[in-house]
Amino acid sequence: MTAPYRLSLVEVRDRLAKGELRAEDVTRACLDQIARTEPRINALLGRRDAAALEEARQLDTQGPDASRPLWGVPVTLKDSLLTTDMPTTAASRMLADFTSTYDAHVVRRLREAGAVILGKTNLDEFAMGSSTEFSAFGPSRNPWDITRVPGGSSGGSAASVAACQCFASLGSDTGGSIRQPAAFCGCVGLKPTYGRVSRYGGIALASSLDQIGPLARTVEDCALVLSVIAGHDPRDATSSPLPVDDYMAALKNGKGLKGLRLGLPKEWPAQGVSEDVERAHSEALDLAQQLGAKIVPVSLPHAPPAVAAYSIILMAEASSNLARFDGVHFGRRAEGVRELEELYLRSRSEGFGEEVKRRIMLGVYVLSSGYYDAYYTKAAKVRRLIQRDFEAAFKECDIVCGPVAPLVAWPLGEGDQDPLSLYLRDLYTLPANLAGLPGLSLPVGLGAQSRMPTAVQLVGRPFDEAALLGAAHALWSALPQPGLPPEM
Ligand code: GLN
Repeated sequence: MTAPYRLSLVEVRDRLAKGELRAEDVTRACLDQIARTEPRINALLGRRDAAALEEARQLDTQGPDASRPLWGVPVTLKDSLLTTDMPTTAASRMLADFTSTYDAHVVRRLREAGAVILGKTNLDEFAMGSSTEFSAFGPSRNPWDITRVPGGSSGGSAASVAACQCFASLGSDTGGSIRQPAAFCGCVGLKPTYGRVSRYGGIALASSLDQIGPLARTVEDCALVLSVIAGHDPRDATSSPLPVDDYMAALKNGKGLKGLRLGLPKEWPAQGVSEDVERAHSEALDLAQQLGAKIVPVSLPHAPPAVAAYSIILMAEASSNLARFDGVHFGRRAEGVRELEELYLRSRSEGFGEEVKRRIMLGVYVLSSGYYDAYYTKAAKVRRLIQRDFEAAFKECDIVCGPVAPLVAWPLGEGDQDPLSLYLRDLYTLPANLAGLPGLSLPVGLGAQSRMPTAVQLVGRPFDEAALLGAAHALWSALPQPGLPPEM
């Protein structure tokens, strides 16, 4: 019999609901798997083993509850989502011993749905990065090959799902931080439409781009988690009041790929894309065509300046969001200080890592009077044009397709020296954030050269996660799957 931790979320949920598995046994199996894998992959920053077991035992005593869609299912959370019973560090020295007085909206939703939270996952400090190497608490490693990065910034979440430490994890995606690590670790990752999931209680990076979403081992699993966390929340002013579709029904009743128009943006360059990524992309599109989809060329004329516009907007918003961490309002306070100015200076200098400081300084620069119009206003205009490009593209096609990242997971240490080359690797993911669209990263088996997971990206119409998940599910069911990492 398959060890319970290797099942999909939906499988384990069904067996728990039928009483074929006990919540305590499932939680214990995941905790054992954590103990086995954690020394190699370092996916977790915080754990609550005893409390999780106790919770699972209580669930068993009460008995399965059909009204709770994640009853007894172990999950993990990116350590930028606030929790009352574990610290939330954002992988920064600044918040090394901060515990919130309230749960993030999504955390509360998971608890209400009966999920058992096992721990908090590693990330790039304040979600700034693409490899989880910018964590103040050491990098996570890719379960497929521990000499490689798991991607980022939600790298701990992706590693934790791929290593079967849990059945799903929540991450956040400001420019690709759910989709790219999912792709690197062979998981499915979904960034929902801006406004679909409340960010209340998520530590903000860039508020006009941030979105919280699931990572899991199947499309169905992501759909189920999304149906738990989606919906209106008056505590996030950008949260949408639009009704939430029945995503699970959409997968079951979906018409598959027949007649679906997949748009290929002609501006998404093939140059700089590795052979494995290129091959995964064409393999997925060939298969989609065999299943009845049509490939149509589309145009995103303002794709070339997308990285520049994104960087300016992200850094501007980040510098403003992170101003609160001054050792007085929030964050670690420097010791032995005599004057106020020295207090701010030393608290922030000691608390933040290099990448965070770089982005704050650039953000303050682009917002300063005299430069504001030249940089920020211009970036905002480019962003509007990119949104319009997508609106036009969606008249020609139903889903926009492309790579997730130009490369598969790279070796640890490789991106360290050159921040700019790292920023440029986000070119395929960040347009969905600038335009507020839902984007999903779908595994396409292992690359022939690297033997690492490869993936394609599907971007859908706003608030039509049902169609996006339906198409992804149909394609997923036909594609070769990477399976589980060796030794997991
Ligand atoms: N890699 C991107 C960046 O460094 C994405 C970050 C994110 O989505 N949180 O900005």
